[in-house]
Amino acid sequence: MNTPLPAPDSPKDALVSFVRDAFKNRFSNVDPDFVSIAPGRVNIIGEHVDYNNGIVMPAAIERWTLAAIRTRPDSIIRIHDVQFNLEAQFDAKEEVKPDTLSWLNYIKGVVAGFIRRGHPVPGFDAVLYSSIPHGAGLSSSAALEAVFALVANKLTGAGLEPLELALLCQQAEHVFAGVPCGLMDQMAVIRCEEGHLLEFDCRDHSVEQIPFTDPNLTIMIIDSKVKHELAGGEYAKRRRSCDLATCILGFSSLRDVPIDDLPRLLSHLDNTLTKRTRHVVTEIERTRKAALLLKAGDFPGLGQLLNESHASLKDDYEVSCEEIDAIVATAQTLPGVYGCRMTGGGFGGSAIALVRKSEAKEIASRIQETIQLKYHFKPEIFTTVPTNGACIV
Ligand code: ADP
Ligand code: MG
Repeated sequence: MNTPLPAPDSPKDALVSFVRDAFKNRFSNVDPDFVSIAPGRVNIIGEHVDYNNGIVMPAAIERWTLAAIRTRPDSIIRIHDVQFNLEAQFDAKEEVKPDTLSWLNYIKGVVAGFIRRGHPVPGFDAVLYSSIPHGAGLSSSAALEAVFALVANKLTGAGLEPLELALLCQQAEHVFAGVPCGLMDQMAVIRCEEGHLLEFDCRDHSVEQIPFTDPNLTIMIIDSKVKHELAGGEYAKRRRSCDLATCILGFSSLRDVPIDDLPRLLSHLDNTLTKRTRHVVTEIERTRKAALLLKAGDFPGLGQLLNESHASLKDDYEVSCEEIDAIVATAQTLPGVYGCRMTGGGFGGSAIALVRKSEAKEIASRIQETIQLKYHFKPEIFTTVPTNGACIV
């Protein structure tokens, strides 16, 4: 008999028990050997800058993807997705190629990455479940990759370091899922630590863990559940614009554009490239400042930067949408909200707000009421503290 799926806000331990039980249900009452688990992530600030060698500041959130695993004596990799009742398998001894099943590609891409690095992956059975909403800008894709990267790292004994694992997952997303993403999502779900934001420098790959532990402050995630189809195509267009501007200005990336010289440099670009470049360069500067303000405990200052980031994404980078703008504008006027902006790739997805914990409930209801009234849908809202990156339990 099928057990009911866990509530989306279930704690990690309950989800681990759930996938263990689901594994036994699916595979003849045999226990799994271990469970691999990876969180979703939310980017606090530093949006659309990872592929410009910029600085980003994500946190891992209390939503997870998990896989219960048991090795097999052969080379078959069989995945049962208990959430959607999907099942698929492939043979890791044969050439692992992109699949028509889009969800399987994230897993195949990771397995292919290990094989390409000289680490043949043995067969295993897996039961998969996720409490991360898909396509909400909270990186369910990177979590899925990280879960299986940890599985393959353990089963092959390859001993790949976190950065190497993140790069392998990014490559899987590029080649197998066809998404030309930066490195932020994969680094975040692998390297984030409980109680910290991850300041990640996408140019030299250095990381700094910035404490985020004030008991009065919380991260609010507002999932609009809106998805506009243009997301993929527009993402690729933004990347091309950045590359073109970099080339015209004669730098190796937009990270290297000195902000003091920006007005003069922008005069060499057309209107669209001016706007795209201005967003990237000012967003990197905002992220740098945000890290300093957070360390100084200046939450109003930090919130102001989130608001400015949203304006820049909306007006200069043009990756927001009407519904998210309405959510952000509503949140920004509410007492107890330090700042709010869209987060993730854009064209729907989620917004993030930094809010006073004591007022979070009231803030969430006010946003839901306003949006329901105007757009006739109710955003899904939850709060989270920064949690740990991917691990094996
Ligand atoms: P995001 O990463 O923001 O959630 P993406 O579009 O990058 O959005 O990735 C979402 C896709 O990842 C889904 O459409 C699905 O194909 C795949 N995916 C992620 N997690 C799972 C899962 N647990 N089970 C099946 N597919 C998943
Ligand atoms: Mg993704």
